[in-house]
Amino acid sequence: MAQKFSLLINEPLKPYTSFRVGGPADLLALPKTIGELKNLLGYASEHEIPVTLLGGGTNVLISDKGIRGLVIITTHLKSGIRIKDSNPEKCFVFAEAGERLSTACRFATDHSLSGLEFAAGIPGTLGGAIAMNAGTKSKDMAGIVADLMVLDPKTLVLQTIERKNLGFSYRHLEISGIIVAANFGLTPANQAKIEQTFKQNLLLKKTTQPVSAASAGCFFKNPVKGMPAGELIEKSGLKGMRINDAMVSELHANYLVNAGNATCEDILALKTRIEDTVFNTFKIKLETEVRVEGE
Ligand SMILES: Cc1cc2nc3c(=O)[nH]c(=O)nc-3n(C[C@H](O)[C@H](O)[C@H](O)COP(=O)(O)OP(=O)(O)OC[C@H]3O[C@@H](n4cnc5c(N)ncnc54)[C@H](O)[C@@H]3O)c2cc1C
Repeated sequence: MAQKFSLLINEPLKPYTSFRVGGPADLLALPKTIGELKNLLGYASEHEIPVTLLGGGTNVLISDKGIRGLVIITTHLKSGIRIKDSNPEKCFVFAEAGERLSTACRFATDHSLSGLEFAAGIPGTLGGAIAMNAGTKSKDMAGIVADLMVLDPKTLVLQTIERKNLGFSYRHLEISGIIVAANFGLTPANQAKIEQTFKQNLLLKKTTQPVSAASAGCFFKNPVKGMPAGELIEKSGLKGMRINDAMVSELHANYLVNAGNATCEDILALKTRIEDTVFNTFKIKLETEVRVEGE
């Protein structure tokens, strides 16, 4: 039987990540439909090929040797954002996992819907944002998700999971399957006000974070209490600290940036140096937010 999908072989992963770091994937696929995704998973299962899932690659650090098996990138899994249901208080918006979060923000503003302003400037896909429970100090994806369509990679069964049954926590969602689509509950509001809040949030982000540098955003989670990770790193005297081209941002100390040709090894060495210094200074163990993938 002819394969109903296409595979790239030994494909470098650097261009698919915002860190611009990492070796190749043995096999890479960018499915355009849920059917194609199912075919890929069926093929992987039949041939016992391990599968790694990526969205926009903006919260991952890929190892220098790359990823063995099949990497599935969801960025082409998008069928258009649309309003599914609405009443005077709430509007439910449907989107597939590969839509960019920024496209969803634009859709919400264009339709005078409030709820996504916090996401101004957060890159990546909706699926990745939900899986990471992306957000800011005060708001996150958990606040707007109404339900998720989740595909079991083994049985290929598609299930709808309601918000009340989803285990969201700080930058985390407890989930075993692949998020293929979601419904969001947004609130009708004044368009000019939404636009203004969005622009303010974006400006704040651009002036306080190195958003155009190669990075994966904040590298460490903020501890539950006390100073945020960036402040702990800064007060440990590590701003600007560098191992080869891996560097602690001068603008925001929780951003580790690739200043040119950093390798995963450089970034992991810098991570260890930061963890040790912060621990020696404050007796606090930092936890990584960025997910390290690969061999
Ligand atoms: C400049 C910059 C600024 C950032 N600012 C913020 C910020 O303000 N707040 C914040 O929270 N984050 C921020 N981030 C981090 C990142 O953008 C978010 O975590 C984003 O939501 C990740 O989405 P992604 O599609 O890139 O996920 P990826 O990095 O591709 O994947 C992240 C994880 O999610 C899993 N995943 C991806 N898609 C799915 C899916 N469909 N189903 C199940 N699991 C999936 C992957 O397997 C992986 O483990 C920033 C990053 C950068 C580079």
